[in-house]
Amino acid sequence: MKKVLSAIQPTGDLHLGNYFGAVQNWVKLQDNYDCKYGVVDYHCMTMPYKASALRENTWKMVFQLLACGVKVENVFVQSFVPEHVELSWVLSCVCSYGELSRMTQFKDKTDQLKDKDKDALVSSGLFLYPVLQAADILIYHADYVPVGKDQEQHLELSRNIAQRFNTQFEKEYFVHPEPLFTEIPKLLSLADPNKKMSKSLGEKHYVNLFAEEDRIRKQVKSAVTDTGEGQIGMSPGVKNLFELLVACNEKTIHDQLMQDFHNGALKYSALKEAVGEALVQLISPFRDNLKALEENKKQIKEQVKDSSSNIRKVAQQTMKEVREITGLLSLK
Ligand code: AMP
Repeated sequence: MKKVLSAIQPTGDLHLGNYFGAVQNWVKLQDNYDCKYGVVDYHCMTMPYKASALRENTWKMVFQLLACGVKVENVFVQSFVPEHVELSWVLSCVCSYGELSRMTQFKDKTDQLKDKDKDALVSSGLFLYPVLQAADILIYHADYVPVGKDQEQHLELSRNIAQRFNTQFEKEYFVHPEPLFTEIPKLLSLADPNKKMSKSLGEKHYVNLFAEEDRIRKQVKSAVTDTGEGQIGMSPGVKNLFELLVACNEKTIHDQLMQDFHNGALKYSALKEAVGEALVQLISPFRDNLKALEENKKQIKEQVKDSSSNIRKVAQQTMKEVREITGLLSLK
């Protein structure tokens, strides 16, 4: 079986962008691949944060992934596998400063920090984050990485790092991982369809996957459709809504409304109502699952610790081999 690795930061609730860009695919892939899905808490330390919030959010993300259909044996918490950090150091030594400086996410996040607070700390962790991400992937010899389009550049870096390691140590050791994109590799913000849906933009820009039905319908209702800038053809906001219908598997209604659009008869209110309804239908079972899982909190946490320990064995084996290849000593 080919190997799949993907990960998500525990930054609070899952939003629709995470779900349609990544998690929906994670669930499907479990039938045909050897999958590992990490809740990457080390990655959440690059910006200022509160320890209690990180702890809470890590478990929250684990439970939400399980509620979406991710199997418990495929889930791990990154900090239960500290070998990720060890490999990250080794890989940082075959990754150039220049390459990391060119990462667009680093530039974006640095700008955000600067806007918020001129003296905010731009940590070295934020700079090195893509190397830790490469370690997350390479440590499990993953063939495929299901991610959203926003991660394409990082994945390319992982491939370059793998290549450089293999060349330097004259061994075809690390696999070159390939991305797997979903039907919506980039879901746009409902409030500003020129930007991707993201939490950092603020509440009105993203839809929380576990929000109450009313809130979901209301948010879709207020989605920006036309920006009034003399748009020719379909505006990004309308396209985003149509894509949501496809992602929810509502092909019939999608085709009907698309025909209306081409005939100049589309009512945005009808499109929004269809999207709201499709989302509510898709998501309601997740909310029910989450409630059921939360009734067994303790037991599920133990299961996730066990799956993390099992997954750790693979990472430990990789580190044993990496130590050997790179000339580091081993105790055993
Ligand atoms: P993050 O929240 O940055 O840890 O991202 C988790 C996963 O969700 C990654 O695979 C991202 O590519 C994906 N993702 C985040 N935002 C979006 C979006 N607006 N559209 C599509 N995928 C996204």
